[in-house]
Amino acid sequence: MVHTAFITHNDCSKHDMGDFHPESPARLGAINDRMIAGGLMPCLEHHEAPLADRRQIERVHSATHVENIFSASPRRGMVHLDPDTAMNPHTLTAALGAAGAAVLGVDLVLQGKAQNAFCGVRPPGHHAERDRPMGFCFFNSVAVAAAHALEHYGLERVAILDFDVHHGNGTENIFRNDPRVLFCSTFQHPFYPYQGADTVSDHIINIPLRAGTDGAGFRDAISERCIPAFDAFSPQLILISAGFDAHREDPLAHLRLVEADYAWVTGAMVTLAGRHCGGALVSVLEGGYNVDALGRSVTEHVRMLAGV
Ligand SMILES: [Zn+2]
Repeated sequence: MVHTAFITHNDCSKHDMGDFHPESPARLGAINDRMIAGGLMPCLEHHEAPLADRRQIERVHSATHVENIFSASPRRGMVHLDPDTAMNPHTLTAALGAAGAAVLGVDLVLQGKAQNAFCGVRPPGHHAERDRPMGFCFFNSVAVAAAHALEHYGLERVAILDFDVHHGNGTENIFRNDPRVLFCSTFQHPFYPYQGADTVSDHIINIPLRAGTDGAGFRDAISERCIPAFDAFSPQLILISAGFDAHREDPLAHLRLVEADYAWVTGAMVTLAGRHCGGALVSVLEGGYNVDALGRSVTEHVRMLAGV
């Protein structure tokens, strides 16, 4: 029997940007607690991620960016890269572990060792552009995973769904000129990072949603624009930038999704993966800042991946 892999790295819980920062270690603790309470842990195959190596990171980031992150890493204390994004002594290995988890997820599903995978990691990655960190993100883990599938396994078509409430500007920036990647992002607009609403591209599908959009509006957007595009593209692998900050209880944003909406969109992606690529799907945690809602939402997401 082929299982769902749950991948993390120990240092993901040690990256800490201060007591009042919403992107906190408590997020992973809440996910862990809720998945244990839901009886989900025994249904999963647990993996500790290796660190991504620089060659894997530099498929999607400039050598200058990578060097800047490595050299900014502090021995003690905290160093800010922008007002929202800071490094402590564990941030570098956490970010490398997050990207390494996404790479391992691709390895497991493409080698038939797992049906699909969820990477319960932080820092998130989807705001990190080719040349700069941004918005709590250092290395773009989902982009590193896509590039690994394309370059190491020779895949020709990888589709990425980003349902985080914020536009996946980093992923768009990295794959803007690469039609081997179909990128679909749903996001509150106008809202941080104030990008994506006027992109014109045949392989980038940006779906801006007004503040207050609920699950019905979200499901319509996915059904009408994302699913037909994925069907036409026929991906060999599906990746998800799984942010849960479009939840109605999230403190940073203003959409109104609930756990059932995350279960629904996950089921839709599992169905698409079954139709086009033997079920190959890797999901990587991005945002989600009400830790209780995050724990509940991730549990439903992983439950759908594992089919339990
Ligand atoms: Zn977000």
